Amino acid sequence: MDSVKKQMKIPFARVPMAGNEMKYLKEVLESGWLTTASKAMALEKKFSEYVESPFACAVNSGTSALHLGLEALGVGKGDKVFVPSMTFTASAEIIRYLQADPVFLDTEYGSNLITPEILETAIKKYPEVRYLVVVHYGGQAAKMFSDDAENITEICRKHNIRILEDAAHAFPTKIHNKMVGSYSDAACFSFYANKTITTGEGGMLTTVREDIYNRVKQMRLHGIDRDIWNRYTENKPSWEYDVKAPGFKYNMPDINAALGLAQIEKAKVFRDERQQVAEYYFDHLEDLMEVVDLPLIHVPFEDHSWHLFQVVLRKDAPIGRNEFIEKMAEAGIGTSVHYKPLHRMTYYKERYKLKEGDFPNAEKTWKGNVSLPIFPFMKEEELDYVCRTIELIMRS
Ligand SMILES: *Cc1c(COP(=O)(O)O)cnc(C)c1O
Repeated sequence: MDSVKKQMKIPFARVPMAGNEMKYLKEVLESGWLTTASKAMALEKKFSEYVESPFACAVNSGTSALHLGLEALGVGKGDKVFVPSMTFTASAEIIRYLQADPVFLDTEYGSNLITPEILETAIKKYPEVRYLVVVHYGGQAAKMFSDDAENITEICRKHNIRILEDAAHAFPTKIHNKMVGSYSDAACFSFYANKTITTGEGGMLTTVREDIYNRVKQMRLHGIDRDIWNRYTENKPSWEYDVKAPGFKYNMPDINAALGLAQIEKAKVFRDERQQVAEYYFDHLEDLMEVVDLPLIHVPFEDHSWHLFQVVLRKDAPIGRNEFIEKMAEAGIGTSVHYKPLHRMTYYKERYKLKEGDFPNAEKTWKGNVSLPIFPFMKEEELDYVCRTIELIMRS
């Protein structure tokens, strides 16, 4: 590391909290009402306006949103659901929550997305599957729409397959001029601490269907037919409610929603900032193209949320991924791996007898994938240090 003069400390992610977070939190604490109430409802309104969706439901995690969404789509025991292997376990575990079974798909190398071709091949092989969990990987949307019929929405419509969007990475993201969250039965967002906007823990489900909205609203709070907070504001006696189903406890507390309200005010700035980081990497890592594959981008940069910037060290790179991560850490730079694919995870591998050979692209990615630091207000000198360190490691 001789020619990189001074050691810096650059985390994988840094959460910007420079807005109205404290102000809104203070309002919640002073109101005396800490759980779900006006702030959660205000966040639902702001979020649905942002993604141009008629209905939004705030919940306590992205995983809760996925679970509620799949439940509302009607998935039940014995159903089969397509899901990519190259994703976080939450995308698939929700299928098991409902006693259904995942059918794992490979993804396109470079984008880690399910493509229309991959989907069509899978449908031929598994014609009985009626559901798809599509992951908008890293913040780039899968090909949900296009000028021709070669897109995921159209293929699913033709084959009577219902779609659940795992949009945990995809706020704000567009596809073919539509906001992710504006067009589907269920799009599920995460506000986990390292996501593009955060409430600490939290999530949001958006839908264009009123019946799904009503089901999700009921199931996020014990299957009760009234919101608990309405019970104290409506004119009916506050003790009176009915239980329509054995629901869950997935509502978003106002403490968390307060953070979300401050963060969403900055969402556009955050996204633009992340894009600048991505552009810097594309410009400055170009010379390493023989040993490092940069992300494959199919959309205008403005349509990408830039949640992740994942590169893949190729087979002929001078060092392997694990050693690379160690060297980066020695230089004070945080990195991460997205993901070890699910077909390699003990539970899924053993239960579904999955073979590495069935996921050639996910395997090729897994051999060398590493995600570089990307966050709003990352300084030019930090970016310069990251890129020069990578170059040093790769050239040594
Ligand atoms: C973060 C994430 C989730 C889960 O979100 P939580 O808010 O942590 O529950 C689901 N899917 C993907 C792809 C994620 O990255």
